[in-house]
Amino acid sequence: MMSETIRKPKPRPAPESLPYWQAARDHRLALPKCESCEKFWFPPTRSCPHCLSMNFSFENVSGKGKIFSFVTYHRVYRPAFEADVPYVVALVELDEGPRLLTNILGIPHDQVTCEMRVEVTFDDYDEDISIPKFKPAQS
Ligand SMILES: [Zn+2]
Repeated sequence: MMSETIRKPKPRPAPESLPYWQAARDHRLALPKCESCEKFWFPPTRSCPHCLSMNFSFENVSGKGKIFSFVTYHRVYRPAFEADVPYVVALVELDEGPRLLTNILGIPHDQVTCEMRVEVTFDDYDEDISIPKFKPAQS
């Protein structure tokens, strides 16, 4: 018997986002931080979007923030996501400033609100890739 499993698409790290994905694999959230203006940003790029400096390194962030905005998907756009419907796609604003497009887990979709405090959790895709997602903050 052939078993047919439809998997969700696997994130493919670009060169500039590789350190982000390597940290996520270790269940750490790390973002580029500028050594000139000391600001964080996301998504990773080759230079600081605030001051254009190319001197930066990836540093761990708290993984805590709030929901800036969100939508709830009720329709199945890809078969691999059928079991998740309805699910929440949110823009989470980290305490360090940057906003990440992500999913909210661990709470019924109709209880998600803007400004809700959330913290990072990691969705292990396979042994190479873990995807940062968010859940309601514990404290
Ligand atoms: Zn900068």
